[in-house]
Amino acid sequence: MQRLLRRSVVAVAILLTSAVGITDGIPRPSEHPDAAVVPLLDPAAMPESAIPVARAAMTSRSAPSLRFPYVPEPEYITSPTNYWAGRDGASIDYIVIHYTDISYARTLRAFSNLASDVSAHYVIRGDGHIAQIVAEGDTAWHSGNAWYNRHSIGIELELDRVTNPVFTTEQYYAGASLVCAISARQDVPLDRDHVIGHNEVPGTTHTDPGPTWDWPHFMWLTSLCAPPTSATVHASFVSETPYPEITADDKALVSVVLRNTGSTAWRKGTDQEARLGIPGTSPDLAFLADNWPAPERPAIQQEDIVPPGGTATFSFRVKGAVPGVFVVPLRGVVDGGAWMDDMGMFTVVTVR
Ligand SMILES: [Zn+2]
Repeated sequence: MQRLLRRSVVAVAILLTSAVGITDGIPRPSEHPDAAVVPLLDPAAMPESAIPVARAAMTSRSAPSLRFPYVPEPEYITSPTNYWAGRDGASIDYIVIHYTDISYARTLRAFSNLASDVSAHYVIRGDGHIAQIVAEGDTAWHSGNAWYNRHSIGIELELDRVTNPVFTTEQYYAGASLVCAISARQDVPLDRDHVIGHNEVPGTTHTDPGPTWDWPHFMWLTSLCAPPTSATVHASFVSETPYPEITADDKALVSVVLRNTGSTAWRKGTDQEARLGIPGTSPDLAFLADNWPAPERPAIQQEDIVPPGGTATFSFRVKGAVPGVFVVPLRGVVDGGAWMDDMGMFTVVTVR
């Protein structure tokens, strides 16, 4: 979260007034616990006595399903004030992850309060509920850096000593599903050069999302929901078994190992399943096939999940139907998604 200390006192005064309603001008924390005590400051910089230790029940939170991945459905709670319309022609190149330091409810109020000077496109509550505050086409004020604000989408995760003291599984799932959806909409690459923490924005003094945010786990989750496209589907060659030489009555096993160098995981049995295909999707070599999944798809990945950086094994059998020397071109593919990099792979089947 981006906060300007010089305005914090004004911001708190307005927050309290707007939250409580103006009656006698005195906010009553017992009626509005969320607006109670903590000003828009970093709690770490506050005396312990200033931090509330108890609070009344929150509005009920209905936890979403823990199925993952899923299509995020944000609740629109748009800010009337805290954003710039449009992006001044800037491309969306980054997704910036933050935490709030304050409760979800207080965060939403701050984001609709001009004096706070802050906003983000999305806020993810502790139970995984997603609020959208600013449209993706508009510029939110989250990174403390005007250029980065123009070029990024900001996501705030509720982290608050009382309402949500630790990042939850639901927040990881909601955050990853949201990042995947943003990536698909805005063509932002799903890697740590483009999905960054507030602490990684040049010139920032902020440390969020901090050391308790599990980046490897989060990026692994994003790989599980990254749609397979030409941007996310990539592979490099690892190894291949020797070219088979068989008789007309014989069969032979061919194995190819590829490394997943893209940003989408290969997941068996899903629309992210990696297969070994014959480039051009020609069935002309189907006479060599022995139990191939399809005439032009010799093999499917053996492993259930191959995350980015992992290797997948593709094995298939050929049969010596007719004598000859047959060159079988091979290329990885995620059907319905994209072909993997064309590395000129092939095997040569010699049938005597
Ligand atoms: Zn931040």
